Amino acid sequence: MNKEEFEKQRLIVLERLIRSGVVKSKRVKNAFLKVPREDFLPRKLRLRAYEDTPLPIGWGQTISAIHMVLIMLEELKLSKGLKVLEIGTGSGYHAALCAELIKSNSKGCVYTVERIKPLAVFALKNIVKTGYRKWVRVFHRDGSKGLPEKAPFDRILVTAASPCIPPPLIEQLNDPGIMVIPVGGLHLWQDLVVVEKIKGRIKQVNRGGVAFVPLIGEYGFKYGDEITDN
Ligand code: SAM
Repeated sequence: MNKEEFEKQRLIVLERLIRSGVVKSKRVKNAFLKVPREDFLPRKLRLRAYEDTPLPIGWGQTISAIHMVLIMLEELKLSKGLKVLEIGTGSGYHAALCAELIKSNSKGCVYTVERIKPLAVFALKNIVKTGYRKWVRVFHRDGSKGLPEKAPFDRILVTAASPCIPPPLIEQLNDPGIMVIPVGGLHLWQDLVVVEKIKGRIKQVNRGGVAFVPLIGEYGFKYGDEITDN
């Protein structure tokens, strides 16, 4: 499939997500049209880039479904010049979309953290290939502890499910600031929680049920945790 055919498919998915109310803002719409999801997938899955479903990217991990990526982007309310922390780099696709929304000549950076080294390397390659390297920095470590040396962050995006909101992430969120994070059980289901820090106070809103792979780390799940059905 050539570039134009992928672009056509991207537009078809977008129109459906606008009709269903997932995509609301012009900014998110334009960002989705600019970033080629096909360039963030293993070669054998490229043709499936515009299926609105999670797809495997190796090491037992997935690139999230398109609607979920865009729901989270709408909640983050990204604008030019913001400093963003993403936990769970995966393929680098979500980080590239964030970069598209925050990039400006002098300011704006996306720091993204991945615990599986080969995925961090895969993501960086994808980010370079698609032209977002100037605005994205990739770190290999346990992101449940955040990235204290670069804090505070205007926005924090967590793309793996956590049993609770990791306290270091609350501390590293700027005031004002917004964090989006799936919180709940180790396997289905979790709640998508939007945390807002404003004038020293923390507000939390639940945006409904989601299903993410686990955040594994000091403030996330640990190997050996009991599997429950909550
Ligand atoms: N945002 C990604 C994308 O655009 O492709 C998809 C992320 S995938 C659903 C969740 C990712 O979180 C996986 O790559 C997983 O390895 C990573 N992860 C899990 N626990 C982590 C931790 N403690 N720190 C950093 N990354 C973690």
